[in-house]
Amino acid sequence: MTAEIICVGTEILLGNIVNTNAAYLSERLASLGISVFFETTVGDNPKRVEEVIRQGLKRSDILILSGGLGPTKDDLTKEIAAKACGQELVEDAEALRRLKEYFAATKRPMTENNLKQALVPENCTVLYNDNGTAPGMVIHEKNGKEVILLPGPPSELIPMFHLQAEPILKKLGSEALFSKVVKIDCMGESAVETEILDLIENQSNPTVAPYAKLGEVHLRVTANANTEEEAEKLVEPMVKELRKRFGHKIYTEKEDVTLEEVLVEALDRKKYTIAAAESCTAGMFVGRLVNVPGASNVLNESFITYSNEAKMKYLGVREETLKEFGAVSEETARQMAEGVAKAAKADVGVGITGLAGPGGETKEKKAGLVYIGVTVGQKTKVQKCQLRGNRQKVREVAVSKAMTMVRLALEEE
Ligand code: ATP
Ligand code: MG
Repeated sequence: MTAEIICVGTEILLGNIVNTNAAYLSERLASLGISVFFETTVGDNPKRVEEVIRQGLKRSDILILSGGLGPTKDDLTKEIAAKACGQELVEDAEALRRLKEYFAATKRPMTENNLKQALVPENCTVLYNDNGTAPGMVIHEKNGKEVILLPGPPSELIPMFHLQAEPILKKLGSEALFSKVVKIDCMGESAVETEILDLIENQSNPTVAPYAKLGEVHLRVTANANTEEEAEKLVEPMVKELRKRFGHKIYTEKEDVTLEEVLVEALDRKKYTIAAAESCTAGMFVGRLVNVPGASNVLNESFITYSNEAKMKYLGVREETLKEFGAVSEETARQMAEGVAKAAKADVGVGITGLAGPGGETKEKKAGLVYIGVTVGQKTKVQKCQLRGNRQKVREVAVSKAMTMVRLALEEE
């Protein structure tokens, strides 16, 4: 089965919003084993939207459209898609009931234009919207094509696609698919790929594909078979092989689990607390850590020590160290990590100091140079990283590296 994604919205063409829906849908479809051959963005122009849909119906089995399902005049996706599929719009009783209920609950008057949100093409499966007013739908086209319409706001599109459209897509194929992800946090994409070149070159079913993420590489193993159980059986030996090759470099094999979650869980298991002293990342490490509910079990306090004075005052970094080696140095990172663990009475201390750039460079120290210190128990390790990218990227990758260092230090203990 082949799919194509069509994003409707002049805002996207003007660069006012970033097309995150396309990225999300592409990734999900890949994990479902559905090939995406085309991705189109088209403005809110009825003629051009129709053209794109008609073209899609000729060359793909499944069309997935995002945006333009709302109540306003410029929201025309549904009307045009119905026309292109040769279907009339009819009122859906449940959609109308939900719409009325929504307005009653929010105590807002329902204007006339909202009623059009209860209209759906004659032959479709309605995807009711639990996070907004506009329902989505899967239009069953007469030649066996499926046209899926989803609302534009990601907070509505993501749950609707995941919970309602995916089960329908899974049933469409005559084959069942199973896929598994293996997440690696201490190697770059090309290094990971080099390790599995033989697997990639000889692959057929299952396939294994690397996806680069910020500071991480995800390997997705996908197989198809007659049943999901059979597909899973095909995936398992490949995952085993990856485990053998990457070992502790894999931080999780769970789809939704993040590195910070793994970290908080590992700290919690040991009943440890963590404290960070951040210079160039200025709170980003701790910010990412508290993405995890329950971070309060492992985090009491942390410091942003941007200036030399702050590093001395709060962490006890020695003046001679700063004079002799500079703020961006192995010695300073070490004293920051050890100092913050002591100051916060934490079991784990993290010190991050670097030159995020641009500017401030010297002959020896280029932008992107970051030292990360991690103290666990009596042991401190410092890693020197020369990171690439702009200021934001350097800071984000530094945080990922620090998290990996803590994860490995806890494992080694
Ligand atoms: P609404 O009922 O909110 O009007 P809609 O289905 O009509 O929803 P649009 O009007 O096309 O959708 O877009 C509404 C908002 O959703 C946009 O302003 C934008 O914030 C977000 N959005 C739309 N398309 C995308 C996209 N491709 N990627 C990310 N966000 C998007
Ligand atoms: Mg709209």
